[in-house]
Amino acid sequence: MRKQAISFQTFLRVQEQWPKGWFSLAELLKSDDALQADISNLPTMSELAMIRKITVELLNPLRVRWGGPLTVTSGFREPELNHRIGGSPTSDHLYQIGGAADLVPVDATEAGLVDFLEFVVEMAVAGAADGKNERIDPPSIPPHSGGREETPPPPPASGGEIEFDQLIIEPGWVHIGWRPNGNRFQVKRMMLVGGKNIYEEYRP
Ligand SMILES: [Zn+2]
Repeated sequence: MRKQAISFQTFLRVQEQWPKGWFSLAELLKSDDALQADISNLPTMSELAMIRKITVELLNPLRVRWGGPLTVTSGFREPELNHRIGGSPTSDHLYQIGGAADLVPVDATEAGLVDFLEFVVEMAVAGAADGKNERIDPPSIPPHSGGREETPPPPPASGGEIEFDQLIIEPGWVHIGWRPNGNRFQVKRMMLVGGKNIYEEYRP
């Protein structure tokens, strides 16, 4: 375990006091690759603060507006894990200057991923144009199968503009990155070409 990382006891304590909403700390830390490699994937205090920020500012409000379950397939990655799975050394999954989560909607087909991506783009652009996003009441939806969703979450604390830094449609999931300052609203598509990840601008 990294020296600066929080202990498992601290994780449990923080998890209990985690902001109410849809996304738990555990699901943002969970990684099958980490388990396999025997990496604890626990954050430092500053990374933890960023995970909390992104949960409150991006993920929970996004989930409310989208109105359907979203599964996190990769959230936080400690540096060794990120390196091991071939993540960029400047990846927002490291939670340094921002943070990122890979999300999968219920409809995980290509069309379903495109729907979700376009929803986020429209919402963020509308928010940027108005200076403020409209509050939308979540439609009634079946509970997420992943547990922890017995009680409906409260609406986002603030008026809650949703911004994003990078939104990338990848094979099987949508990557969304967010920064506390200076979001770039980049929309890209990732493709595997000759064994290499190629990112090109995506135009809906
Ligand atoms: Zn990602």
